[in-house]
Amino acid sequence: MLLKNRCALVTGATQGIGLAIARRLAEAGADVVLHGIEPIDAGAAVAAALGAQTGRRCAYVAADLADAAAAAGLCEQASTVLAAPDILVNNAGIQHTCGIADFPAARWDAILAVNLSAAFHTIKAAVPGMRARGWGRIVNIASVHGLVASVDKSAYVAAKHGLVGLSKVAALETAAQGITVNCICPGWTDTAIIQPQIEARAANHGGDRAAGIRELLAEKQPNLTLLPPERIGDVAVFLASEAAAGITGIALPVDGGWTAR
Ligand code: NAD
Repeated sequence: MLLKNRCALVTGATQGIGLAIARRLAEAGADVVLHGIEPIDAGAAVAAALGAQTGRRCAYVAADLADAAAAAGLCEQASTVLAAPDILVNNAGIQHTCGIADFPAARWDAILAVNLSAAFHTIKAAVPGMRARGWGRIVNIASVHGLVASVDKSAYVAAKHGLVGLSKVAALETAAQGITVNCICPGWTDTAIIQPQIEARAANHGGDRAAGIRELLAEKQPNLTLLPPERIGDVAVFLASEAAAGITGIALPVDGGWTAR
């Protein structure tokens, strides 16, 4: 078991990429605190199911990460329900697509808060315990949009580029203390966050969803395949493992060739 005796905290872990990461970490032997925005009963049911499937201790904490104080208190919540995180995965994220001229300021603020500032607050809270234990892994789920841009995604691209920058600074500040900080930069991955964009493309093809997906992929992602969320979970386990102890401060594309263009 690669990650036996480690406790992980994964934000946005009740669905999509976050749930796949939580599952892979638990399968690799870690106990996992799943964070979400669902009420306690619903989130606890997801955590209990994962615990039953993997035989690991799994728990649930709820917090709105747009709220700086809630983000800052998340590690403490995790410590209360299970244990202080040895592995912190900042995965929660939101999207809004629109040109800058019409981009609602409130959406800008929300995207920066959830996709970037929340990671600052959780990292700040998690690092002292990791330093004291002499071991830590921080994996931030950025995006290809942490490395390159697309139209209509000003807030998302700004936040994800910021997350890559924040991760490099955190990596430098912790490199001598047994802690690594890295980003994973996924391309199109088959989850809820991209459904509005698929539907918008499908509308160009008389509502044909498959044609909408083909159009999205053809434009950006050379493997022409939506990534299963488990591919991101697998890479998160690698970055949390001893095999990756010498890797810190990187932004690793898992993008079917998107950023090779
Ligand atoms: P998703 O919409 O299924 O998951 C997003 C998660 O964020 C959910 O669990 C949701 O509950 C959580 N969340 C949303 N608002 C929140 C808030 N205010 N406070 C706390 N949590 C909140 O989509 P996903 O694809 O699984 O997204 C996970 C991460 O992967 C995001 O950071 C996203 O930007 C990134 N990503 C996704 C893709 C993709 O193509 N799916 C590509 C690159 C990066």
